[in-house]
Amino acid sequence: MSESFIEITNASKVFRDNSTEVHALDDVNLRFSSHDFVCLVGPSGCGKSTLLNILAGFEVLDSGNALMEGRPLSGPSIDRTMVFQEYALFPWMTVYQNIEYGLLHKASLSKDDRRDIVNRYLSVIELAGFDAKYPHQLSGGMRQRVAIARALAVEPRLLLMDEPFAALDSFTREKMQDELLNILSREKAAVVFVTHSIEEALKLADLIVVMSPRPGRIVREIRLDLPKPRNLGDSLLVEYGQAIRGLLHDSIA
Ligand code: ADP
Repeated sequence: MSESFIEITNASKVFRDNSTEVHALDDVNLRFSSHDFVCLVGPSGCGKSTLLNILAGFEVLDSGNALMEGRPLSGPSIDRTMVFQEYALFPWMTVYQNIEYGLLHKASLSKDDRRDIVNRYLSVIELAGFDAKYPHQLSGGMRQRVAIARALAVEPRLLLMDEPFAALDSFTREKMQDELLNILSREKAAVVFVTHSIEEALKLADLIVVMSPRPGRIVREIRLDLPKPRNLGDSLLVEYGQAIRGLLHDSIA
């Protein structure tokens, strides 16, 4: 691998209640570069969201290290933005205001700068003309496009996506996958994307990380040096798909 943008070493995370301990992550090691699209796959409860939350700075490790360009990830930062499964837009704000929101925290931007950036993203997500609409006036796919625009408008170095397309119908989901790849071919950011769909991972990822059930460990990393868009009928992808299915099947057997 060229450079190590994110480096997670010997990472463990335990959630403690009064009487119980949940080992969410156990000795996780992961490295990827600043242009990698990383997909995390694994059974429910294996620590995928926990890993995203560590990267976002919402949670801290109990042991081990999580570094970005050699510096510890301490607390949330505008460098790292998250897109959730449910369209986490502010319902009382218009599309324009939702996309502008993160930019308000960048003191260097004037109102005109912000307007230019919001308008650019409205056009990137093909929602020019929808700026004055409220989230409830949009379809699910449109809302999720706004959430992605809002996360990208601040030009994060790392985009974290927690099953962002899981609530969409399959047609809209495929369209959104294509659009995301399109956007990322222009906007440079590393992505960590949680999915339950092996097909989605095969279509999007440069690196697929397969995790085991609790305590979450990485059982395999698969690097896919194949151009995108990809044909899922490609024999190599079929082979990888079978291997991942086998690993997930064995892990819950
Ligand atoms: P996944 O995203 O793979 O479904 P999670 O990272 O959400 O898994 O959760 C991993 C494990 O940690 C689960 O057993 C979950 O119940 C537990 N967990 C996650 N967050 C917390 C928390 N804040 N407090 C207690 N337990 C938690």
